[in-house]
Amino acid sequence: MTKVDIIGGSLSGLSTAISIKEHNRSINVVVYEKHKKIGYNHEGRRCGEAHTIEKEWSKWIPEKNSYYNEIKTGLVYLGEKKYKYTTKPGTAYILNRQEFICQLARKAEKLGVIIQTNHKIKSKNDLESDYIIDASGCPSTIKRELNLNKGLKGVTYQHTIEDSNCFISDTIKIYYIGEFGYYWIFPRNPEKKEVNVGIGFVKNFGYSLKNLLEEFEKKQKITGKINYVTGGLLPIGLQRPFKYKNILFVGDASAGTFPPTGQGIYRALLSGDAAGKCIAHNQVNRYPYMLNKMFIKWDVILKFFTSANLVCRNINPNLVIKNFEYLFKFGVRISH
Ligand SMILES: Cc1cc2nc3c(=O)[nH]c(=O)nc-3n(C[C@H](O)[C@H](O)[C@H](O)COP(=O)(O)OP(=O)(O)OC[C@H]3O[C@@H](n4cnc5c(N)ncnc54)[C@H](O)[C@@H]3O)c2cc1C
Repeated sequence: MTKVDIIGGSLSGLSTAISIKEHNRSINVVVYEKHKKIGYNHEGRRCGEAHTIEKEWSKWIPEKNSYYNEIKTGLVYLGEKKYKYTTKPGTAYILNRQEFICQLARKAEKLGVIIQTNHKIKSKNDLESDYIIDASGCPSTIKRELNLNKGLKGVTYQHTIEDSNCFISDTIKIYYIGEFGYYWIFPRNPEKKEVNVGIGFVKNFGYSLKNLLEEFEKKQKITGKINYVTGGLLPIGLQRPFKYKNILFVGDASAGTFPPTGQGIYRALLSGDAAGKCIAHNQVNRYPYMLNKMFIKWDVILKFFTSANLVCRNINPNLVIKNFEYLFKFGVRISH
């Protein structure tokens, strides 16, 4: 019987597990999660949790208690200009990410997937299955081990603030700064009137993100009590390779994120879905092709846009804001 080991019990690992079982029940699937609990751990809780959804989404709809708010309005601040856009119903959410991961875990277990928590995989040599899925996030466990971890990485830092004067349940706000970075204010748990306020840069320029975020909160006169702080690395665009021998990389380890629209969560789910189908139908060599097909258009735009902005940033930071204005007018909507 074919056996698949999955490193990481979060969005991409669980979507892979579900997809394999949905397409081929006879495959034996084990998910290893290093934390004691699925979902309700520090990595399950990223304060962003904003989600834009495209056509393939319907399969991964969050249950009612797996999201906090449905987003209807986006306000984008580009220098002195402010843009407002309205999202299509059912296409943008602020997830209750921890609960959403549990939703996926319940579905996987119902399909016969075995989930082993409190089990950290240290090396690919710990596993003896036919296929390994590396869904361990960014930087990925196996890419680090094999020194394959070469993709562009951004940085983020975020506060969750409760009892905030900035809570608007259906609205997200994004503020671009010419330095090729951005701030955002997202509504979180309505019961606590929580907002998630964050800063992200597409590259580590060496700034103190904490200081910049605190200055931003002062300038925007954001009130409330900080109850959670997080941050970390963001893989910017596709993180190649997608496959190495019998190992398939999913989620942040391969599909990465697309900062102008967020979509780390969305990409994690879709890449897992694709990897699962390939394994179930014994077509693993198709996986890199499928990932490229899904994301190559945005990857080319992103790589071009990033390079242009890194040059513009040195000439005049306002040019970066102008470039974002063009991208925005081009139709790219921002979720995180
Ligand atoms: C601060 C922050 C905010 C973000 N905000 C947003 C947002 O608003 N919207 C959005 O779309 N995206 C956002 N992202 C990106 C998004 O979180 C990721 O794209 C997404 O989580 C990728 O999912 P994943 O399953 O591939 O990896 P992860 O969610 O990182 O999960 C990896 C899992 O693997 C486990 N693991 C790791 N190593 C091992 C090991 N050796 N053995 C066993 N288990 C292991 C971890 O515990 C974890 O459960 C944000 C990222 C950060 C850092």
